[in-house]
Amino acid sequence: MNDIKDYSYEELRKILEEEGFLPFYAKQIFSWIYKKRVEDFDKMTDISQSCRAFLGKNFFFSTLKLVNEETSYDGTRKFLFQLDDNSRIETVVIPEGKRKTLCLSTQVGCRFRCSFCVSGLAGFKRNLKVSEIVNQYLYVRDFMGKNSITNIVFMGIGEPLDNFENVVKSIRIFLSPWGIYFGKRRLCVSTIGLLPKIIKFYKLNLGIKLSISLHSANYQKRLKLMPGTKDNPLEELISTLKKRSKKDKFPLTFEYIMIRGVNSSIDDAKELANLVKGLNCKINLIPYNYSHFFSWEVPSQNEIEQFKEVLKKQNVFFTLRKSKGQDILASCGQLRAEFREVD
Ligand code: SAH
Repeated sequence: MNDIKDYSYEELRKILEEEGFLPFYAKQIFSWIYKKRVEDFDKMTDISQSCRAFLGKNFFFSTLKLVNEETSYDGTRKFLFQLDDNSRIETVVIPEGKRKTLCLSTQVGCRFRCSFCVSGLAGFKRNLKVSEIVNQYLYVRDFMGKNSITNIVFMGIGEPLDNFENVVKSIRIFLSPWGIYFGKRRLCVSTIGLLPKIIKFYKLNLGIKLSISLHSANYQKRLKLMPGTKDNPLEELISTLKKRSKKDKFPLTFEYIMIRGVNSSIDDAKELANLVKGLNCKINLIPYNYSHFFSWEVPSQNEIEQFKEVLKKQNVFFTLRKSKGQDILASCGQLRAEFREVD
């Protein structure tokens, strides 16, 4: 038996064709599952009996098991899911004005162990399947209502480009006009900057946004903060991004966590401005979200203001991100997929 939500539209179409069924049934099946949210082949009434029998014999519908759901005072919601092998992942919905951003996990654990992020603390277990990625979206949409999600970011647990094939396939399902039909520009993949995978990703021309977790413009400092980036030299990364940004009309995003006394000085800001010169980009400054697992500290107000001043002077486009969902450990770098008793 195969999980039907592991298949892209093109793959499903091919299987149907090979089995001698009308290939356009793939459109209908996609529409039943992703638009009408019907997960029962017998209810797919515009598909022939014999095809429904074939589907029923060969495919099943997986669902995620909700273990816990918490809501922050600021409206951020966190879902803890259990998978078939008892692994756990987390999915977050972050409301901000009209925007409601769904933050998806792509792996169980993470192998990159950034020095400020709890997602890698327990190491890496496995990649998520396509269905497990898509099901996070479907579950939350079913739970919170049809228009509850306006944006999707691959910024939960894991490194999306380390689970390349499944993440790309899930993106194809999100974008498919026969399926979820999510707008390209409202999807964003975040990465620590795995260069070969970025090049491969760009070649696919999916048209979705890419965000690079930078955190320092200084190669050595960055390596200390993010040891997992060691095979991806910063200079080469930036020159690849520069070439690409000339083609793309929309700006590239950099995430920059500000940690007190580490990467938040005036010199750090100057180095950053220098690095991104000539790049059509936006810097998201994120004050470090405190975790008792590490000895890093949140930046002082003074550091933040001075840093912003330098970027302003150098005409670097930036925003200072407000942290959301801290009280329920749902902010960037706080996802660990552990069950906590809620008082
Ligand atoms: N592995 C990918 C996808 C996860 S995105 C990546 O790193 O880009 C999660 C984002 O939260 C990244 O930008 C990450 O650097 C940031 N983050 C991790 N720990 C954080 C912390 N303690 N405070 C603020 N941001 C953090």
